[in-house]
Amino acid sequence: MLALAGCIPRGDQRREPPRATTPARAERAGADTLQCHIDLAREGIGFRALPDQRFGGGCSALGAVQLVNIGTPVTNLRAMTCPLARAFARWSREAVQPAAGQWFGARIVRIETFGTYACRTRNSQPGARLSEHGFANAVDVSGFVLEGGRRITVQEGWNGEDERVRRFLRAVHQAGCRRFNIGLSPDADAYHYNHMHFDMGRGPYCR
Ligand SMILES: [Zn+2]
Repeated sequence: MLALAGCIPRGDQRREPPRATTPARAERAGADTLQCHIDLAREGIGFRALPDQRFGGGCSALGAVQLVNIGTPVTNLRAMTCPLARAFARWSREAVQPAAGQWFGARIVRIETFGTYACRTRNSQPGARLSEHGFANAVDVSGFVLEGGRRITVQEGWNGEDERVRRFLRAVHQAGCRRFNIGLSPDADAYHYNHMHFDMGRGPYCR
């Protein structure tokens, strides 16, 4: 089920032997990566290409990049497939900053994430398929810091009392769904109570 696309485990450390990377995924990564590098360079996004890595358990980071400068500082971003990185950089510039201007009249000075690559099954459930995190193809966004220091978190703000915060978070989630293949929020299921999950796996799915 797409709704069970997994996220960084929060305390549940059970692991199952996941399935191997399919050749199709590696081929797709190769075809997409060169054009993606060109796009990043043209859009002024600072990045480093990372060597392909195949890890145990079927996990891999193929065609991955390290984002260095997307105009907004971001915590915990490590290996990301290039299409994921491209979508993330565009989302931060075209959606997050404008939404912050609209709802708070301020810039976002930091986007906080729980990270990208993690070799595990969806929602860390035994026997489930590998999460897109196992392919460096997903990112979990947990919060935002406004200039002046105000911190907005998905956990406290999604259903919190501040209507502007609720609207801002929903706006950036909806905008994420237009740029990533999958977008999950606290409305998706209990696993996502404290972050938005975005990935470039098979979609579209937005909740
Ligand atoms: Zn996730």
